[in-house]
Amino acid sequence: MITPVLEQALLEGRAMLPGGEVATYIPELGKANPGHLGICLRTLDGKRFQAGDTDVRFSMQSIAKVIALAVALELCGFDAVFDKVGMEPSGDAFNSLVKLEVSSSHPYNPMINSGAIVVCSCIEPELTFKELLRRTRMLCMDPDIRLDDAVFRSEMTHISRNRAIAYLLESKGIIAGNVERVLELYVRLCSLSVTAESLASLGLLLASGGVNPDTGERLLQPCTVQTVTTIMMTCGMYDGSGEFAVRVGIPSKSGVGGGILSTVSQRMGIGIFGPALDPKGNSVAGVRMLEYLSRQLGLHLFSQESRESVYRRLGLSVPPPPESSPPVPATP
Ligand code: GLN
Repeated sequence: MITPVLEQALLEGRAMLPGGEVATYIPELGKANPGHLGICLRTLDGKRFQAGDTDVRFSMQSIAKVIALAVALELCGFDAVFDKVGMEPSGDAFNSLVKLEVSSSHPYNPMINSGAIVVCSCIEPELTFKELLRRTRMLCMDPDIRLDDAVFRSEMTHISRNRAIAYLLESKGIIAGNVERVLELYVRLCSLSVTAESLASLGLLLASGGVNPDTGERLLQPCTVQTVTTIMMTCGMYDGSGEFAVRVGIPSKSGVGGGILSTVSQRMGIGIFGPALDPKGNSVAGVRMLEYLSRQLGLHLFSQESRESVYRRLGLSVPPPPESSPPVPATP
């Protein structure tokens, strides 16, 4: 019953494609096929549904900011990270440095470039890239994730703006250490290639509170998941986060490679690939598909339709209520 909903979501999304464009400011991303579109959905009870181009690899780009934040919180702790980066939506473009220079002593949040570069500066002295890649593969349940070397080199040769941000951060004493190494780590993370399915798996891991539901292994602490998911909800879709929260209401993170990672707590992870972007840098078809799915499947965080009513509407048998999850320790 879910597959027809996904197929319809794909049609809704495809109708938006003429209004989108692939990113070109990183030249290698400009080679993407704007007609590609795929969606994968993985549920906590072990089901997997997909439609469209779900096996095409593409670079994570900003979605890597979720991985960086989760790893930094686990490695360095809440206070050390949020001493250096805020948790407020900025309302500005992802690569803006205006507020950083004019009105703030630190980046607004970890989901914009300046904030993610700070987060990477927390990780860089602690972990090699190889270890970070190993952790990313675990979190996305995808052993085939690798560095897309062409995308990495392409971004490294068009890095002026991020370099300006990084040195501004250094001049303000927000990042210390080797700025070039921090920048390189940030770009490497952005250049990891995933599929819609790997993103659905990462969303599933977050939905299950940090436990891989296939193996039972805990990969993230509950308080990390709570923090990361909240920041995805408030800041994950760049300066489109507010409208997305109202219309879709699913914690999500997009990237200019065309990916969207979404997580519905205690229910499912969703991964999308659609490289045609809207002017804010979000997958134009992906946003539309999520809006459709949110309505059809009752996924909005503040949905007023009961779960039972959604299941009945879809002609599905109503599942038993989920087991109560362990209490999340209070945020420090
Ligand atoms: N690597 C990209 C950049 O820094 C990521 C941006 C994005 O996906 N919004 O510009």
